[in-house]
Amino acid sequence: MEFRLNEDQRAWQMIARKFADEEISKISVSRDAIEDPRATFDWEIIRKGSRLGLRTLGIPKEWGGPGVDFTTQAIVMAELARGDSSIAKTFSQCWKWCHLIMDRCTPEQQARYLKPFMADDAFVLGGGITEPNAGSDNRLPPATAPKSGLRLSAKHDGDAWLLNGEKCFIANANIAKLIFVFTRTNPDVAVRSGTTIFAVQMPHEGVRVGKVFNKGGWRFYQNAELIFENARVSQSDMMGKLDGAMSHHGGKNAKFAELEYSANAVGVCDAAVEMAMLHARREKRGGRVLAEQQLVQLQLSQMHMMTEALRSFMLRVATESDDEGNEHFAHSHFLMNFATEAIQRVCNLNQEIHGYADGRHRAGADKLVRDAIIWTHIAGDAVQKMKAVSFLLK
Ligand SMILES: Cc1cc2nc3c(=O)[nH]c(=O)nc-3n(C[C@H](O)[C@H](O)[C@H](O)COP(=O)(O)OP(=O)(O)OC[C@H]3O[C@@H](n4cnc5c(N)ncnc54)[C@H](O)[C@@H]3O)c2cc1C
Repeated sequence: MEFRLNEDQRAWQMIARKFADEEISKISVSRDAIEDPRATFDWEIIRKGSRLGLRTLGIPKEWGGPGVDFTTQAIVMAELARGDSSIAKTFSQCWKWCHLIMDRCTPEQQARYLKPFMADDAFVLGGGITEPNAGSDNRLPPATAPKSGLRLSAKHDGDAWLLNGEKCFIANANIAKLIFVFTRTNPDVAVRSGTTIFAVQMPHEGVRVGKVFNKGGWRFYQNAELIFENARVSQSDMMGKLDGAMSHHGGKNAKFAELEYSANAVGVCDAAVEMAMLHARREKRGGRVLAEQQLVQLQLSQMHMMTEALRSFMLRVATESDDEGNEHFAHSHFLMNFATEAIQRVCNLNQEIHGYADGRHRAGADKLVRDAIIWTHIAGDAVQKMKAVSFLLK
């Protein structure tokens, strides 16, 4: 398999690299250090990135977007994440939900959602599945267990639907202008067969933002509770089929999920390697620079090895995702598992090389470790991810 970037991909890579170097990196550590989780966010960086096309990267040409392929999205993601993983994710969270709009919406809905999204540099998207009692339970329930899985209900009321219940950990919930909410439209069947998506414009009567989670890592990225109290949503905002939210397989959104996180992990590993190399070259311990000490050399080579292996695997899956006929997802799940191991190992090694006493560098090294822990809890948690092998056992 050949990984050679074409001119267009290279151009996007350079735009993202320059933006990460000149704009993202300089606010990364200071934003992370802000205590109030609502105040870590910064609209200015989103607007600047949006003007470069980084908020709307997932949009096809017919809707005014750049229409780039998955490989381009992955390499842009890796570059942005080298500057800051959670700022990068705020951009790619918009690409992710744009893929859902392209997969599931009618042309009339696409026009209604995408026109305002394209026109406004401060328009970000969110999607709400998780609830206080339904995280893993949305993914692991037996097909015959109607009582497990998400409970936020949507009940038909004239030409509209009334939504009641609660979501938690929802990315961009407190800042998004449009949120895709997974609701239980049939509580008597398993969650896979009784769930429907509604697009909810924010702010929305009957929808309240609750707590904004004070996370250890990805502190720039906003995650909040959403409380629905008789929130009225029009029939015209139902996405796809009634009860069909989780029975839909394939499409761009599904192909993007694991690739997005893994590309982000490549960027974080690059940042950790760069930081460790710089530190090892200039810091002396026991009369010699760290880079001359064999133990540190072994640590650095393990960091390089894991990072380059992850990059190659990520590019392979990106290439496979661009192959229209390829609906085989096993590789992307294995990639996500490997990305989780790689990012956590590489960031831990970087912190070991820095030691804990060096205040100047510790802030950056410590942040990468905290960001890397997020991989245990996204796209399904570490236990759920082990089931990737089931794709091969079918
Ligand atoms: C940074 C971040 C961003 C997120 N963004 C979003 C978002 O935008 N939208 C959204 O909907 N959600 C979002 N989430 C939520 C995420 O999808 C969930 O955290 C994830 O699905 C795991 O659910 P949970 O945290 O409720 O863990 P739980 O389901 O409570 O699991 C806790 C532990 O129990 C184990 N466990 C649970 N059930 C079983 C079982 N049956 N058998 C064996 N072990 C089990 C799990 O493996 C895990 O180790 C986000 C989370 C994070 C951290």
